[in-house]
Amino acid sequence: MSDSINDTSDELDDLVIEPCVEIHEFEEASPRASFNGLLQNAPRANTSVVNALSQQLIYQINLIVPNALVSFDDLDVKLGDAAYPFVPPAAKLGLQNAIKRRGVTLVVNSAYRTLAQQMLLYNAKKKGENPNPVAAPGKSNHQSGLALDIEDRQGWLPFLQGTGWEPLAGDPPHIDYRGQGARDLRKETILAFQKLWNKNHPNEKIGEDGRWGNDTESALNRSPATGFKIAPWDDKPRIVRLSKPLMEGADVRKLQEKLQAAGFTIGVADGVFGAETERAVKEFQQQKGLVVDGLAGAQTLELIA
Ligand SMILES: [Zn+2]
Repeated sequence: MSDSINDTSDELDDLVIEPCVEIHEFEEASPRASFNGLLQNAPRANTSVVNALSQQLIYQINLIVPNALVSFDDLDVKLGDAAYPFVPPAAKLGLQNAIKRRGVTLVVNSAYRTLAQQMLLYNAKKKGENPNPVAAPGKSNHQSGLALDIEDRQGWLPFLQGTGWEPLAGDPPHIDYRGQGARDLRKETILAFQKLWNKNHPNEKIGEDGRWGNDTESALNRSPATGFKIAPWDDKPRIVRLSKPLMEGADVRKLQEKLQAAGFTIGVADGVFGAETERAVKEFQQQKGLVVDGLAGAQTLELIA
């Protein structure tokens, strides 16, 4: 199967071929529910409950390998609820060209699957709740950052030709990016978690080796679904905006609270950047004579007194 994207990992001997269609149905089996516990206690098969932690993990990967993963949610795409639309810049360009040539919306059911999401699927498998083959966290091709599951793959193939995106035999919705700039991020996917864990647990550090092992599994199971207290963007605030999946974190909550205090309408400062928060940011920008783009970075935060 995906032999050409194995070259940066020596740990794929036990590669599990996951049936993407069934996995997708499983990972989105239930609607988003608030869950504030540890991963090991997460409700069955709802990978969106680890949204906040997942965002921290993706951000951390980009600290390890700058610009490794960029969002393609600004393209003409329709995304599944649990799909993180992150690929390398060159792979995004390939998608952009294919969409432009075909002139229709690309439906993406699954894309980058974070280590936390894979952990939930893996735990469900261990408990006998998931009938599908599930790779250990860090070993699924959906942790490479080069994998997508799309609808109507057959229809898309002619348009994807020459973009670096190629079908994976035997897995009907799955395509992998193998063009220029392709870099398998499975080790970095594990390493990002290890670094984040260590930053938050200076007295209980685990090895930062990018390898899946008992210490890493135990730590991940004891990680909070709502993300670590010290977020990877704490040193250099990230730009928050309306995106899919919705951005979530203490920084969003802080923004909401400031907007509320400044008199803008935000029902509940829940730490999730939804449409209401975007509207409030835009109103604020308009009021201040700023560019009205709904993006809130460090400067925006400072301006909201
Ligand atoms: Zn797939």
